[in-house]
Amino acid sequence: MNASELETFLAAVESGPAVVQRDAPLAQYTRFGIGGPAGALVETGVEEEFLRLLEAARRSGVPFLVLGGGTNLIVADEGYPGVILRYRGSRIRWDQGLLWVQAGAELQATVDFSIARGVAGLHTMTRIPGWTGAAVYGNAGAYGHSMHEFVRRVRFFDGQSVASGDNTFCRFAYRESVFKKRKDWIILEAALELPEGDRAELARQAEEIRRIRDSKYPPEMRCAGSIFKNLLFKDLPAPAAGEVPEKVVREGKVPSAWFLEQVDAKGMRRGDIQVADYHANLIYNDGAGTAADLRWVIDELKRRVVERFGLRLEEEVQYVGMPCS
Ligand SMILES: Cc1cc2nc3c(=O)[nH]c(=O)nc-3n(C[C@H](O)[C@H](O)[C@H](O)COP(=O)(O)OP(=O)(O)OC[C@H]3O[C@@H](n4cnc5c(N)ncnc54)[C@H](O)[C@@H]3O)c2cc1C
Repeated sequence: MNASELETFLAAVESGPAVVQRDAPLAQYTRFGIGGPAGALVETGVEEEFLRLLEAARRSGVPFLVLGGGTNLIVADEGYPGVILRYRGSRIRWDQGLLWVQAGAELQATVDFSIARGVAGLHTMTRIPGWTGAAVYGNAGAYGHSMHEFVRRVRFFDGQSVASGDNTFCRFAYRESVFKKRKDWIILEAALELPEGDRAELARQAEEIRRIRDSKYPPEMRCAGSIFKNLLFKDLPAPAAGEVPEKVVREGKVPSAWFLEQVDAKGMRRGDIQVADYHANLIYNDGAGTAADLRWVIDELKRRVVERFGLRLEEEVQYVGMPCS
């Protein structure tokens, strides 16, 4: 980013209604509590204004990135040399059998709305933190359901104008969608189709999941949930597949935690970055952790798994201001 690109962008947006913060400390916007500043962070809850921000960023040439709740991010200690945009539109409405949700709605608000409406599926995503747009982007899911089952339509900005695509268009796969490949496509709203369910039973199951998740991921824990994606058993190289005990395979997937346990990940520490002693795929900031130490731990774990199993783990977490390894 050069200074004039940033100033051109800020001159175009500072007179508008969006909230602008220069030199925004990104540690405050990520659940890890790690990361240096961005040139600016600009946010709005109004779609037309958000589109204006995207257009201003494009015209000025300033590098930019759209973030949500910051719960799946590792931001470099040096920060991000560009502008962070956040769309906070959070309307959730029921229209002709579809649940329409703006990208900035907390996923939990969407989950709660669906339970109150008596429709099923999202209830198992209770306590997945973050916003609904990012949940579509990463095809988030837990306890047997993920977003791809329910998305019927996504409205997004395609770099020029507002476009829309159906479920096939989104090319969903495990923790993947077309939006992960096309970083210039920004999700504005999604329409979800959900089957009928029994409200009381959905609420009961959601409460049970909430209790399990709160003990695994205490709400104050500074982390990103799972660092690595799980692996599809069918894609494992034969020698690695041969070592995996049958009971470990669930829904065709092998938890990456299993491979990590075999290379002594649990309890590993560097600086204030800690691998949980009860879950090898959970890394948290236990004080004043840095992105450099976090990255060191991730790279070391990947190295060990390659060495032991000939297998490359892939991060679920997204990097900001630093390349993927
Ligand atoms: C304690 C804990 C538990 C978790 N458990 C789970 C789990 O069970 N299952 C699961 O799937 N995930 C889980 N996660 C990961 C995380 O919650 C999800 O990935 C979530 O969907 C991220 O949402 P966010 O708004 O915080 O996204 P952010 O972290 O802000 O962004 C993530 C990515 O999405 C992109 N993005 C954000 N908004 C948009 C948009 N509108 N358009 C296009 N791209 C966008 C960003 O550029 C970034 O690359 C967990 C995280 C934590 C901290």
